[in-house]
Amino acid sequence: MRLIGGKVFDPELGFVEKELCFADGQVSDCSGSCCCDETYDASGCWVIPGLTDVHFHGCKGHDFSDGDAEGLAVMAEYELSRGVTQICPAGMTLLEEDLLKVCRNAAEHRRSGKGGAELVGVHLEGPFLSYAKRGAQNGAWLHAPDVDMFHRLVDAAEGLVKIVSLAPEEPGAMDFVRAVKDEVTVSLAHTTANYDIASEALALGARHVTHLFNAMPAFAHRDPGVVGAALDDEKTRVELICDGIHIHPGMVRAVFKMFGKDRVVLISDTMRAAGMPDGDYTLGGQAVKVTGKLAALEDGTIAGSATDLMGCLKTAVSFGIPLADAVTAAAVNSAKAIGVYDRFGSFDCGKVANAVVLDADLNVKDVFFRGQRVEL
Ligand SMILES: [Zn+2]
Repeated sequence: MRLIGGKVFDPELGFVEKELCFADGQVSDCSGSCCCDETYDASGCWVIPGLTDVHFHGCKGHDFSDGDAEGLAVMAEYELSRGVTQICPAGMTLLEEDLLKVCRNAAEHRRSGKGGAELVGVHLEGPFLSYAKRGAQNGAWLHAPDVDMFHRLVDAAEGLVKIVSLAPEEPGAMDFVRAVKDEVTVSLAHTTANYDIASEALALGARHVTHLFNAMPAFAHRDPGVVGAALDDEKTRVELICDGIHIHPGMVRAVFKMFGKDRVVLISDTMRAAGMPDGDYTLGGQAVKVTGKLAALEDGTIAGSATDLMGCLKTAVSFGIPLADAVTAAAVNSAKAIGVYDRFGSFDCGKVANAVVLDADLNVKDVFFRGQRVEL
């Protein structure tokens, strides 16, 4: 397959007008004579790598935490149709027996070779979080950081766990970071940590922050907290929910300026109502009402978003983030954050040929998965 006429994303150059060739499911080098017999005209369109969402819970009425094979398959199909070609779904705070089921389900899904977006990882958002900053996580099921439990979950997921979120002030958290930092991306999350505690965890090897600003102390002038600590630690990437609800447009712009385009990871943090009509849903066992883009618990706590990652990318651009920077955050940095950038996130030769064609208004026109055009 040869894509012609489009403006093609390049991590260094932004967008360049060039041709792209896909062969045997990979990006192939056609700099010489092209051997592709089929041509796709992308004139007037943007061609970007398929996105990777490292933090979403559900969509289309299903939630990863349901631990349900059929539901996960539906989620993967929906995400693919939205140009999110790699998924790393997030589990909520649940009892260990339920998290084990969720992890086993992910491993079985991957082994089954079912269709849809490729499941490239699992994000354990719970249960090692702070009660005071639990947000929409169920407080009854929180647990102190526990290396043995973590390894039981990793085993159940057959090594798919790529991110573990934790509150660094919880008992045993620093030892936990030391013990697992080389096998997983440790992310600071749902925390009351101040600057010093957050800095200590980052110095020990944590290198990611879960939904920056949400479920953590504010970035204050005498108390810069997790946000300030992350800013000072150059290796650390920060997730940003850009659904237009969780973070003010001015703060989205500020984060891209402060951290630079290479350290922001756009995430959707969607719950099961994404891709569904308004109504009553649940998240991690709690009732959630969805009205437009807002998903909230009964007490008004924001509970995940209802917009997928492609919607978040479009929202970021509407807030003034250059398209190339938003794509960097949603395709490049996300893949780097979970260690899969060698296979995804750019059109380097030999990478998996996952691509999205966006029209001039950034609507998904076509999705290519392993070099094949997806029926939308
Ligand atoms: Zn969260």
